[in-house]
Amino acid sequence: MKKAIAVLVAAGLLLGVGFGCGGDSGSAMDADVKPAMDIQDDAEKYDPYQIECPVCGQKPIKADLYSEADGRRIYFDREECVSKFEENPQQYLDEYQKRRMEQQGQGSHVKPGAGKK
Ligand SMILES: [Zn+2]
Repeated sequence: MKKAIAVLVAAGLLLGVGFGCGGDSGSAMDADVKPAMDIQDDAEKYDPYQIECPVCGQKPIKADLYSEADGRRIYFDREECVSKFEENPQQYLDEYQKRRMEQQGQGSHVKPGAGKK
């Protein structure tokens, strides 16, 4: 899963470079690019975009029901899911990451193949 994140970061860098070459107005763009990179960095650690339980897919998740895995805090909707997750964290993490990548690919500006032309 680290690979996918690296690809996203690389795509962001490419976009940033592309804008920088576009013209003299590039300095204004730089200010926009840097906070975005910080947010990506934080997302890796704290996963602020997690809105559903990685085990059963239910929402909302609860702030006081969480487990630490892969250096991050993962939140759940009920205690049952926390125990299930702790039995096999890597499996649920992988499935959840996959689902998130698919959602991001469909929903927003991050599209598969958008970097190639
Ligand atoms: Zn759940």
